Amino acid sequence: KPLVAIVGRPNVGKSTLFNRLIRRRAALVEDVPGVTRDRHYADASWGDRTFTVIDTGGFVPGDQDVLLKEVREQAQLAVEECDVILFVTDGRAGLTAADEAVGALLRKSGKPVLVVANKLDSPIGTVQALSAEFFRLGLGEVFPLSAEHGLGIENLAGTLLDKLPAKKEGEDSEERPDDGSIRIAIIGRPNVGKSTLVNALLKEKRLVASEVPGTTRDPIDSTLTYKDKKVVLTDTAGIRRKRSIAHRVEKYSVMAALRVMDRSDVAVLLMDATEPAVDQDAKLAALAEEKGRALVIVVNKWDLIGTDQRRQEAYREALKYSLKFVGYAPIVFTSALTGSKVEKVVDIAVELAEQFRYRAPTPQLNRLLDHMVDNNPAPIVHSKPLRLYYIAQVGTAPPTFALTCNVPQGVPEMYKRYITNQIRKTFDLRVPLRLLFKERPGK
Ligand code: GDP
Repeated sequence: KPLVAIVGRPNVGKSTLFNRLIRRRAALVEDVPGVTRDRHYADASWGDRTFTVIDTGGFVPGDQDVLLKEVREQAQLAVEECDVILFVTDGRAGLTAADEAVGALLRKSGKPVLVVANKLDSPIGTVQALSAEFFRLGLGEVFPLSAEHGLGIENLAGTLLDKLPAKKEGEDSEERPDDGSIRIAIIGRPNVGKSTLVNALLKEKRLVASEVPGTTRDPIDSTLTYKDKKVVLTDTAGIRRKRSIAHRVEKYSVMAALRVMDRSDVAVLLMDATEPAVDQDAKLAALAEEKGRALVIVVNKWDLIGTDQRRQEAYREALKYSLKFVGYAPIVFTSALTGSKVEKVVDIAVELAEQFRYRAPTPQLNRLLDHMVDNNPAPIVHSKPLRLYYIAQVGTAPPTFALTCNVPQGVPEMYKRYITNQIRKTFDLRVPLRLLFKERPGK
């Protein structure tokens, strides 16, 4: 999916515009329990296109006292990583020095930029007068907007659609096209060892790197063969190597992950064993869960911790606790530096990729449904006991199951978790699962 960045100085209304743009999908996105719900990226659908919107301002903590430097950095990041940039300014306050600095940077980038003059809640005539001075930025048309009231949003979105790169085949489909290769994205904060891991894997003799036409076009992709399977590794650190500033910027790791997640089967999330899991690690894990990608958690630099088995178990327990919402994800302890356990990462990723496309046999699913109905008292929903009638697998990548029942709108979270866990246990699936609830046809 194309990436659209919202940039601008603090308080111009970036997050209000963000919420306006994603409005159609926002209600459908399920919350991932255990992660702060300050979303700074989400998919939006307008017309016949779906794209990911990133509120870059939202990545900056303490939005109020952001320095000019940070706004520029944020804009630079957007230029490097995104397809279209929405440059938001305060239409009432007029152009500021910060706006001009960011404007100059964006102008040089050659990327499509739409200048938005926000907070113009008044009728059209005054709006045009107010936004006129923004033409001075030299970025072309200026879009008057009241993000608060939704005025001008249709016009802005219409132009935005025109600026998106041409639609790629299969870009909207939820399932990744199955060309037989397994795509693994290596994600993680800066300096956790992503590049070192990829290099270590490429040196493993059994993982003979092969040139497969059509799979290595992207310079950040490396292809290898594992047990006769074609595996494509995407190193999100590799993107930054050729670029300027991003290596210092933590939020870059989320943007880079967003960029590759849609075309991956498995996300390998690297963490640094010498540091406790931090918010940024949780955000990346949550991203994998939200995007419905299989996830391997890799605790790297284990050589710095030692060989004590109990420490590993303690670390595992702590991690399971802080990343509860991806409790299904296997955890591997590696040293990319010495090569210890690096092959195991690929081994598990390949196995998860298979689970990701697993199709459960229908008779077994039906037996499972009977078992669930018999063994767990049905919760009461809208003063009726929940009745489950049928179950069917309706999709893969990730495995998606539809349950027909009497009250599809009100199934309690607890019961959903119970069903998910039962499916997980029955078919030994350590990948994210999706459940849909439907009413009986003809009812
Ligand atoms: P990236 O930003 O995630 O790609 O991280 P790099 O691969 O550039 O690694 C950052 C630093 O950590 C480098 O100095 C590596 O040598 C070091 N490093 C990476 N993996 C390990 C490891 O397993 N053990 C130790 N001790 N150092 C590592």
